[in-house]
Amino acid sequence: TLQETLLEVNNIEVIYNHVILVLKGVSLKVPKGGITALLGGNGAGKTTTLKAVSNLLHSERGEVTKGSISYRGEKVQDLEPAALVKMGVVQVMEGRHCFEHLTVEENLLTGAYTRGDGRGAIDADLEMVYNYFPRLKERRKSQAGYTSGGEQQMVAIGRALMSRPETILLDEPSMGLAPQLVEQIFGIVKSLNEEQGYTFLLAEQNTNVALRFAHYGYILESGRVVMDGRAADLRENPDVKEFYLGMS
Ligand code: ATP
Repeated sequence: TLQETLLEVNNIEVIYNHVILVLKGVSLKVPKGGITALLGGNGAGKTTTLKAVSNLLHSERGEVTKGSISYRGEKVQDLEPAALVKMGVVQVMEGRHCFEHLTVEENLLTGAYTRGDGRGAIDADLEMVYNYFPRLKERRKSQAGYTSGGEQQMVAIGRALMSRPETILLDEPSMGLAPQLVEQIFGIVKSLNEEQGYTFLLAEQNTNVALRFAHYGYILESGRVVMDGRAADLRENPDVKEFYLGMS
């Protein structure tokens, strides 16, 4: 079946500090309603790819020097991050980044700041988030800085959901979490995808988990896509097994 492509990254090159070439022509497509995984080891360029899409490279002295990025066929390269959120694309940064002094619920509500609709719709979405993350409902009055790493990852995803996105860019959701929690978070991502129709592009070093939950994967090595395919096929690929899944 042919799915509509929402996000298309076409042959982008990214340079940091005018000299450090980090992405050497990366192309990928994110279909509507899919979970697409961007895989690869430390430093392969996953975060850089997501930040190129969100236009968050400037503060790191990085820039896209070649190629193009479009969303629903519209060029998004020079959009402010807030404008991209309005188009329906939101990024959950690596390392979670909660507002530590705000409560869990206040953190979630900060995600709704770009919305023009009323409190009723926002409350309904808050309930939706609590429905998927019951733990956050229990902790809603707690200061976010005192919640666990897993809870903070849930807050970060929940806050992104509060902007009513169509597509969520999720950077390294497994980072620093115990295996059981990683399973739980990926399970929730899968439910959000299947039941609410959210589209995901997730960057992940944990190939094993990502390929069990994603539909399609791209493998990055040193700033290049070296392989891509349906997740089920990548899981059976001998090279992927040997180099990324530790089975040979
Ligand atoms: P990680 O899992 O560590 O985040 P990654 O695949 O997401 O890995 P990136 O963070 O995109 O990789 O980094 C890709 C390369 O770019 C690395 O070699 C990194 O050292 C380099 N890099 C990242 N940010 C900068 C920066 N601000 N200035 C210079 N080089 C950078």
